[in-house]
Amino acid sequence: MAMDSYLLKGAQKALVEKLKNKGISDDNVLNAFSVVERHQFLESFFWHKAYEDIPLPIYCDQTISQPYTVAYQTQLLSVDKGDKILEIGTGSGFQAAILNAMGAKVYTIERQAELYQITKKLLNRMAPRVIACYGDGFAGLPQYAPFDKIIVTCGAPIVPESLLNQLKPYGILVIPVGQGEQVMKRITKIDDQNYKEETFGNFIFVPMLENIVKIK
Ligand code: SAH
Repeated sequence: MAMDSYLLKGAQKALVEKLKNKGISDDNVLNAFSVVERHQFLESFFWHKAYEDIPLPIYCDQTISQPYTVAYQTQLLSVDKGDKILEIGTGSGFQAAILNAMGAKVYTIERQAELYQITKKLLNRMAPRVIACYGDGFAGLPQYAPFDKIIVTCGAPIVPESLLNQLKPYGILVIPVGQGEQVMKRITKIDDQNYKEETFGNFIFVPMLENIVKIK
């Protein structure tokens, strides 16, 4: 099944305008939203809502984040072409595809085996440079560290030490922290002892949970 390309372009353009009006000003972020087709990361049942600025359900009772949230976190990350970026919480794969479209080398981890398998296949087709891994994001991906940037797309109870350790000097971690509701934090690593922490608005994410979930 395909979506009418004329309607699709119009819907994408309208979403980009909405993001601009809400304060997203990084042209590279806005450009990625006009290239990556969000409906491809959803079941066709939700396609009619794919370009609305709302979160939507995906497999395994998880959610694809609201476009504004994805754009906001990506803007905080100040992505440069060629950045090596780790994402915690692959989910639908949409955030990974946005970072990929901005020229980053993306590594992403998902803890739910079923969701990982579905999304890995999709990413192989939509953004084949992305390295999708199955595992617990609290551990990060030491085998691929260090990273220029790390983005956490689930609500973290704390800032995991392992993620800070896997950042390069002057690397940036964008992470929503809190139970229930989260505060968006941007932590810049100066060196192993010194970090700069900035706090941004409140958001609601699905929780970051320990351990992996196997196929039932
Ligand atoms: N970035 C995703 C957002 C998906 S919701 C997107 O663009 O669609 C967050 C995801 O984080 C869920 O799929 C959830 O299963 C996953 N998650 C939660 N805790 C995790 C952990 N400890 N390690 C890896 N993934 C985790």
